[in-house]
Amino acid sequence: MMHASPPAPQDIETLAQLFAAMEATQAIRTTAVREILDGRTPDPAHAVHLEAVLTGLAPTPGQGAMTQLLLPDGRTLNVDLAQERKELSKDLIFLQSGEQALMRHLAREIDGFDDHLEAGRRFLGDRQFNCFFTDRDGTVQSYHGRYATAVQSASSAVFLCRFAMSRTQSPIMLTSAPLRGPGILDVTAIPSGLFVYGASKGREYLDRAGNRGALPIPPRKKALLKALNERLLALVHQPENEVFTLIGSGLQCKFGQTTLARQDMDGSVAGDRSAGLRAAVRDITASLDPAGEHFRIEDTGLDLEIILTIDDEAGGIKDFDKGDAVAYLDRCLGLGIENGPHLACGDTPADIPMALAASARGAETLAIFVGCDDLTRDMIRGKLPSALFLPSPDVLTALLGEAARNG
Ligand SMILES: [Mg+2]
Repeated sequence: MMHASPPAPQDIETLAQLFAAMEATQAIRTTAVREILDGRTPDPAHAVHLEAVLTGLAPTPGQGAMTQLLLPDGRTLNVDLAQERKELSKDLIFLQSGEQALMRHLAREIDGFDDHLEAGRRFLGDRQFNCFFTDRDGTVQSYHGRYATAVQSASSAVFLCRFAMSRTQSPIMLTSAPLRGPGILDVTAIPSGLFVYGASKGREYLDRAGNRGALPIPPRKKALLKALNERLLALVHQPENEVFTLIGSGLQCKFGQTTLARQDMDGSVAGDRSAGLRAAVRDITASLDPAGEHFRIEDTGLDLEIILTIDDEAGGIKDFDKGDAVAYLDRCLGLGIENGPHLACGDTPADIPMALAASARGAETLAIFVGCDDLTRDMIRGKLPSALFLPSPDVLTALLGEAARNG
């Protein structure tokens, strides 16, 4: 007997409540997706629950668009939950009024929506794809302020699954986030068994049968990364540092790389606290790796990326990219990458190697990029001259949903 909907949440006043409420939406959305894919009418209780969460995420009176939440150390943090609200609102339309109502909503919201869909349909044609590689964030999911609350909408999951099931042999979501902790499996609304997940940029994966695999890392390096992650966890569990797990990327212990947010897009954290965290992370890294042989720290301004260096065959140090991931997954999962056509969808230059690797053995590979500025578009066109560009994740997922039905 499936327990469809956990009890609806009360007011959301603390970060813990926010995370619990969004986690509950993942379970509800996944259940709704499964019901829809099975041809059933989704339980109306799902929409009732999502609506209660949406109400709980309202901006705090007197704080503009921001919602004020209580932190474990008694301080408050103002967060912008606009994306979470937007995704919930779309799901309410989808679940309560149906798919066509959602399409009409998107057509009103997005300039040239119908024209983009038409261009997309022509681009895809009636091909049956062997591999469907897709990035997640920025490609099939709009960017959120916090990874842990960026739960996929039910509509996006339904559209992706329908396309995957009807027009592709091997659907693979390839993301830089880890599998868990929080990772892709914590924020997906796709029922298990339908997609392969390549996480940590494809250095670890979960296949459709539920098997996990990961690139081998030399034991010495593995032990160092484990020690680093333990020290970082202890650092962010100090009450004054807990905020860093709750903003932006939070703490993500990826396979071969650890990401720790030191700031978010809204600048929620005071500059001196952010700088203090960076200094503490550098001290920890230096104490574990005094010669700087095993870790490389990249500071994006928002995130600290502590990357375990991998020796390449020429004796140099190489960063693993999504092209390496395609080749690795092909070896592990027998994708038959030489047999096209493939479809590759992404939103940044980091996704270019994924499309190039798919076509490396001569298979026709279609590439769709989402939401790129002119500069990025030019860079992508230089490498993938026939790529199609779409304005947003909503347009891409709507296209795939439509293409599935018509394909
Ligand atoms: Mg992306």
